[in-house]
Amino acid sequence: MLNLIADQLRFFREIGIQEVDVGEGSLVRHNSSQQAMTLQEIEDELGDCQRCQLAGSRTRIVFGSGSPDADLMFVGEAPGSDEDRQGVPFVGRAGQLLTKIIESIDLTREDVYICNVLKCRPPGNRNPEPTEVETCSPFLRQQLLSIRPKLVCCLGTFAAQTMIGSKTPISQLRGRFHDVDGVRFIATFHPAYLLRDASKKREVWEDMKKIRNELERLRS
Ligand code: URA
Repeated sequence: MLNLIADQLRFFREIGIQEVDVGEGSLVRHNSSQQAMTLQEIEDELGDCQRCQLAGSRTRIVFGSGSPDADLMFVGEAPGSDEDRQGVPFVGRAGQLLTKIIESIDLTREDVYICNVLKCRPPGNRNPEPTEVETCSPFLRQQLLSIRPKLVCCLGTFAAQTMIGSKTPISQLRGRFHDVDGVRFIATFHPAYLLRDASKKREVWEDMKKIRNELERLRS
């Protein structure tokens, strides 16, 4: 058995794969019998969601925005106060920076799809709780299944670790491709972090160039 695994790993190395993500505990895994729904059907199913405690404090559900046929999908952590008020992801200061980041590779917000791991704002922007992620994740999984993006860019530690199913710090997860259950991911720093530390913009620009090249490769 161990010999077989060693052979397989040697084969991966020969064909240029440097890392294998097991994806254990990742949010991506879904039941193969699951049918893809349209985004409208998923949003209807979510309805006026009361499935977790966040329903009691949110103003609006922030489902997601952008193209249902997007090749590139961005996933953040959870709505903040601006998003909670408007019902649209990434519209506050961090969101405005995300718009510029998207435009830096000649795309618009309408070309991509943007959403969050959680659809409702945690009070005071506290970290999401595991039960909230568990309750909300079937909807994100359905969004992934519906859009079938070629590439998913996770924004920040929480989204990256949750989507990829890894405890590795964002500084090591970012800038590399991760294949988890048939979905190709890359992670980069969260735009809110860039607002606090502008020196990290250079790395995000490097990541965006990788995204642009990878999309070109995947489309050809
Ligand atoms: N931060 C996020 O992670 N998501 C948003 O929609 C806004 C800010």
